[in-house]
Amino acid sequence: MTNTNEPDCIFCRISRQEASAEYVYEDETVFVIKDRFPRAPVHLLVIPRKHIARIDALSSGDNGLIVHLFEVVRLVAATYHLEAGYRVIINSGADGGQTVSHLHVHIIAGKCLGFREDAAP
Ligand code: AMP
Ligand code: ZN
Repeated sequence: MTNTNEPDCIFCRISRQEASAEYVYEDETVFVIKDRFPRAPVHLLVIPRKHIARIDALSSGDNGLIVHLFEVVRLVAATYHLEAGYRVIINSGADGGQTVSHLHVHIIAGKCLGFREDAAP
């Protein structure tokens, strides 16, 4: 378990098991939890253990981690039998709707998703 080192970050606290969450998957570098305030029948968050504030804070050293993050997206989608499809969202920054400053991927599924600006979490 590495780099979950922001004392007050909720996702770092969940990674360190100082705060509770409903885990769906976890490994050394990535974990997946159910969103506490789901916007759809399936609403999961795929989260790197490393505290990376947002997309803009990524560096080339994180390339392997990002590849693995999307491997986990595929794995979880298969586990949840989301063959009919799902939406992946990464909000970045305040105007992007990001409310937790620790990079995370939303997986949203279970209802027909059109494209509407106000439908994004
Ligand atoms: P974003 O707005 O893209 O930063 O997404 C943050 C997401 O984290 C929101 O969908 C919240 O509902 C969710 N969230 C915040 N706190 C928790 C928590 N303690 N456990 C699970 N999900 C959380
Ligand atoms: Zn964090």
